[in-house]
Amino acid sequence: MTENKTVLVVEDEEDILALLQFNLIKAGYDVVCTTDGEEGLQKISERQPDLILLDLMLPGIGGLDICRKLRSEEKTTNLPIIMLTARGEEADVVQGLELGADDYMTKPFSIKVLLARIQTVLHRKSKREDVSPGEKIVYGELVVHPDRNTVKVAGDPIELTYTEFRVLVTLASRPGWVFTRYQIVNAVRGEDYAVTDRAVDVQIAGLRKKLGVCGPYIETVRGVGYRFREAT
Ligand code: CA
Repeated sequence: MTENKTVLVVEDEEDILALLQFNLIKAGYDVVCTTDGEEGLQKISERQPDLILLDLMLPGIGGLDICRKLRSEEKTTNLPIIMLTARGEEADVVQGLELGADDYMTKPFSIKVLLARIQTVLHRKSKREDVSPGEKIVYGELVVHPDRNTVKVAGDPIELTYTEFRVLVTLASRPGWVFTRYQIVNAVRGEDYAVTDRAVDVQIAGLRKKLGVCGPYIETVRGVGYRFREAT
């Protein structure tokens, strides 16, 4: 018998907290709850959970500061974090993802979807995240060879620019992950390459067009960025 995974929930809305606690226990997780960010950090230092559900708008220390703090410390730098956000907090979502949060859910959310996300994030973290050299990415009709710089759609080779190719490899290496525009630029050009959000949108538009039937694999996440569609 394997040990249950522990989820820490930091959420100041008591009814949401109770709902999460009930459903996580039902799904077989050990659950630690708190309505307070400082207390959340305290609990993490006492016993590290396997994953955190982190509300962003908290009294006292907020979710983004907690995220920043966890990522800056070696012990918690890879601790899976799913942010819980309210509608209209896209700017905070962008900041949270750039601080290293793994995913986010916008309230009100479906418990079923949340449980699936938790499993996905735990699974991603337990396996190696990057595609090794020489490995190809196969996804539906799309085949990408990162080290050979080749892309095929439904068996036909596609010509991409260098930047379009790097954007595609970045997204397709991690299906389901949301990338902010800034993260896409960094992945393509290295840290702090000066480019506008609009330039990323232009690259994506060109890429989708060239990918033809595979274009819809690249999804727009409104107000946040882009992601490669997750396999279903
Ligand atoms: Ca809140």
